[in-house]
Amino acid sequence: MDIYPEAVLKPGEEVRVLAGHPWIYDNEIDQISDTYENGGIFLFKNSAGLYIGLGYLNEKSVIAGRLLDTLKEPSAIYDNYPDIESLLLDKIKIAVKKRGKIKDTDAIRYIYSESDSLAGLIVDKYAGIMVVQITTLGMEKLKDTVIKILDDMLKPEVIYEKSISQSRTKEGLEKAEGVLKGDIKPAVITENGVKFEVNPVSGSKTGFYLDQRDNREKVKDFVKDKDVLDLFCYTGGFAAHACRYGAKSVRAVDSSAAAIETAEKNMELNGFKNYSLIKADVFDELKELAAKGEKFDVVILDPPPFSKSKEEKKNGIKGYRDLHNKAFKVLKDGGVLFTFSCSQNISMAELIKSAKEAARAQKSKVEIIGQMFQAKDHPYNTAIPETFYLKGAIIRKK
Ligand code: SAH
Repeated sequence: MDIYPEAVLKPGEEVRVLAGHPWIYDNEIDQISDTYENGGIFLFKNSAGLYIGLGYLNEKSVIAGRLLDTLKEPSAIYDNYPDIESLLLDKIKIAVKKRGKIKDTDAIRYIYSESDSLAGLIVDKYAGIMVVQITTLGMEKLKDTVIKILDDMLKPEVIYEKSISQSRTKEGLEKAEGVLKGDIKPAVITENGVKFEVNPVSGSKTGFYLDQRDNREKVKDFVKDKDVLDLFCYTGGFAAHACRYGAKSVRAVDSSAAAIETAEKNMELNGFKNYSLIKADVFDELKELAAKGEKFDVVILDPPPFSKSKEEKKNGIKGYRDLHNKAFKVLKDGGVLFTFSCSQNISMAELIKSAKEAARAQKSKVEIIGQMFQAKDHPYNTAIPETFYLKGAIIRKK
């Protein structure tokens, strides 16, 4: 049995933790043991000295404690796990099992940080390539153990670390990127029967927007024999699905030359013909299309987050309204808009309201015919609002 240093919370500060939110802010801690290693594993206790969970503690971070295992009620002793390896093995096993039901793809997010009780760890697998991201000092210290467990369990041919998130600075960590096993080259994955090249090294995020998998499949019901416009297309995720499900024509737009180049490869990989890929700013392109009077049956809007903080929220909502305004101008009557927000602080209601207002400004009526969320391998833990970010609506213009 491992013996850990202890961190004792101020009175009442354990309430959020017991409800399942695994963070402990630095000002919630009353005292800690005399000897400890910063970033190491701690036993957390409430002010009465009862155990509430096991996790790691970084005294240099505002979010000082992150629990890997929480109790529902304080307890006198803590003996859930004899050592930290057994805890990590258990949490990883549970996370991997949860993904067991995901079908029609060989690209899956196996670990999604706090949603899987593994704060600071994100693991994606693209066919034989496993990509690992570590965002906290505590998880950095557990890295070798975690990677060994994952290697044994998922058996990837290649392991690539892409720990480049900005939040590492807050944890006192430098960026870390490189091959940990095998030889890295782009993977080819198959999602819903569509092939995509994914490059973990040069691609956005770990290479692909896995969170949109279920929503890309949804275009199936709307695109057959239709003209489709995919805006913010990245490497052609929605566009290629539209081709696969029988669209008459697909036009896809992104401002990144590299993304458009990969989108071109992806279309060729699948033998699709009826598409055009445009490197342009979406706002400019929409203005131009409207000026030419071009209209589409289906328009897909999947922009980057417009609002990353409370301060940005007002402008963010304006951004969505402006985009919706422009998008409705190129949508045929009876046509369907797929609109998404990946801003954690914009709600589904706010996204829909922004679309409704934009439609009303053009004297168009709309109805909401579907709502969408992040894919199942990005679980939303209701105790942790931060884990719910992707919302989308399917809106028909009447
Ligand atoms: N729908 C995609 C993911 C989109 S991610 C998929 O399913 O894979 C958002 C994309 O928006 C990025 O590729 C980024 O390059 C692009 N982007 C950001 N701002 C843009 C702008 N103003 N005009 C065009 N593309 C933009």
